[in-house]
Amino acid sequence: MIPRSPLDAWLAARMGQMDAPGLPDSTVEAWQMAELRRTLAWARHASPFFAQKLADVELHALRTRSNMPLLPRMTAVDIAAPGLLTVSQDDVARVVTMSTSGTSGPPKRLYFSEADLARTRDFFAVGMRTLCGAGDTILVLLPGRREHGVADLLTKALPDMHAHVVLPPEQYTPETLPDLVAGAHVTTLIAAPTQLAGLLGPLDATFRGRVRAVLSSGEPLPVKLRAAIASAWGCAVFDHWGMTETGYGGGVECAAHSGYHLREADLLIEVADPLTGTLLPDETTGEILVTTLGARALPLLRYRTGDAGRMLPGPCPCGSLLRRLDAVPGRLSANGPGVAQPTKGWSTHQ
Ligand SMILES: [Zn+2]
Repeated sequence: MIPRSPLDAWLAARMGQMDAPGLPDSTVEAWQMAELRRTLAWARHASPFFAQKLADVELHALRTRSNMPLLPRMTAVDIAAPGLLTVSQDDVARVVTMSTSGTSGPPKRLYFSEADLARTRDFFAVGMRTLCGAGDTILVLLPGRREHGVADLLTKALPDMHAHVVLPPEQYTPETLPDLVAGAHVTTLIAAPTQLAGLLGPLDATFRGRVRAVLSSGEPLPVKLRAAIASAWGCAVFDHWGMTETGYGGGVECAAHSGYHLREADLLIEVADPLTGTLLPDETTGEILVTTLGARALPLLRYRTGDAGRMLPGPCPCGSLLRRLDAVPGRLSANGPGVAQPTKGWSTHQ
């Protein structure tokens, strides 16, 4: 029997509901739209950019996700524009500067308040409960150790579930890990696919029989690499989807490995036609759009990720009735819907 994704209970709690199997998407949708109306009312009040962008939008008309095309889409260029911030600079806890790929424009800057980062840590803690629990020791190989980087946020989130966190030396090599893994009784590993590929082979004897679960994050996980790790290390491999723009966390597979259960309490994810912004039906590939719910420092509105995905309808084999995202490798062409280019996929700036 596959355990139900812990994200369902987390979402129910955030919605102020008792958790019970069978939480329907329609209830989540109504809650998300109410959160969206609140977020947009705040953004319009607090930021000149959103005051202008949302001047003609009737917030009360936003009742279901099908109304989302009433809202403008944001692009990477918008994120580089002045006047987006909805809090004072004093309330910004973290700024991430990223180049705007494909343009010669100014870099985009993402701003996070302490409350925004606290929501990310909360999601990390519940997402990790999918694959480990109290008493587990988790080796975090992802970069981003400085304050509010990915590794730092994870390290601060995991004690909430009474798990231990181990960080390797800053400049670790495969040769330095076996003693650490054995000495600390590591049971769980979090790493990016490129890191995992480098450990496959040299660490097989160390991990096999010790590491029960691996979380891949930060880059698309190649199917062959996933299968090779599961076979060589005898462990379950879970994939996480997210990007800097989502506040790092976005969605995580359950034990059914059938798409990402989404961070629905903080993100309203859509799959849309990249040309028109029209919502696409379930199981149709399009561009993933991200709207942040309740984000305080820099709300994102139908942000065009350029990444390809499709929505999988419930129920999941784990019992959740909520929708899941299936990420499709590659980036969408700017000139046509559903056209994936064989380039690298999403990326996380640590
Ligand atoms: Zn599931």
